[in-house]
Amino acid sequence: MSKRYQDMSLFHFQKKFATEKACWEHLVKMRWPNGFVCPRCGHDKASFHTTRKLLQCKGCRYQASATAGTVFHKTRTPLRKWFWLIFMMSTHKTGVSIQGLQRLLGIKSYETIWTMAHKVRKAMAERDASYQLAGLIEMDDSYFGPSGQGLGGRGRGTKGKVPVVLAVENRGKKPGFAAMKVVDNVKSAHIAHFAETKIKKQQTVKTDGYVSYYCLSDRGYELDMRIVGNGPNASKELPWVHTLVANVKSMLRGAHHGVSRKYLQRYLDEFCYRFNRRYWPSELFNRLLKAAIVAAPVSCAELTR
Ligand SMILES: [Zn+2]
Repeated sequence: MSKRYQDMSLFHFQKKFATEKACWEHLVKMRWPNGFVCPRCGHDKASFHTTRKLLQCKGCRYQASATAGTVFHKTRTPLRKWFWLIFMMSTHKTGVSIQGLQRLLGIKSYETIWTMAHKVRKAMAERDASYQLAGLIEMDDSYFGPSGQGLGGRGRGTKGKVPVVLAVENRGKKPGFAAMKVVDNVKSAHIAHFAETKIKKQQTVKTDGYVSYYCLSDRGYELDMRIVGNGPNASKELPWVHTLVANVKSMLRGAHHGVSRKYLQRYLDEFCYRFNRRYWPSELFNRLLKAAIVAAPVSCAELTR
């Protein structure tokens, strides 16, 4: 077993974070990995007040909040519940519904648990926002909606469904990183914008023969177009992007019973966040906790805007 391996089984997790104190101490350790240094006097000794959630400098008594500037800012929910939420959202591959989280965590208010989960989703999105895919990239578009299971048909039968552009690194026998974006339509302008945001220039982009992708060769990409149609050839030529579409749709149908257009992007971001970190299962909790610590604080009103 490697040195970096951390036991993050359910059993170990509940033992390690059994008390509020244990959670607060862990949060402080994550926020100040090299130890707390007073920003006012430079002293490196501080005492921790669990109830008031702050560190007090032993030199000048300056007080630093452990939660200011994190998603936990001003929360009235115990940190233990937040930790469980992060644990489940980071490790549960197929996603957990808001109602499921509400039951498991014993949180009475739907609005509270909804806000918590969406704050974590937003932190996930911020973590991946600046990452760009490289190498051989498969790119495609798909339609999401109440009955939108099919991959094809970019016009007919797509009324009321939400178009999504997807890209994933093809690393031969396995996929690499992935990105997905809700778009107004799959015309060239949106395809180009997505590519330029999410894919490094000079990479090879493999797509089907749809006309909207032609523009990519003028935007600094090597374009590899395959005429694939909707048949079995499609999944042979673009295997990973098709797998991705199937998996994300199954998550949306299964755990979340369909998602409205307004919030679809956050669920796609959540899916990609977990997908992009699937090779580090033992680090998932701490990575997402770190994301929650560095994420810009956001209010409920901002989340529903
Ligand atoms: Zn001080």
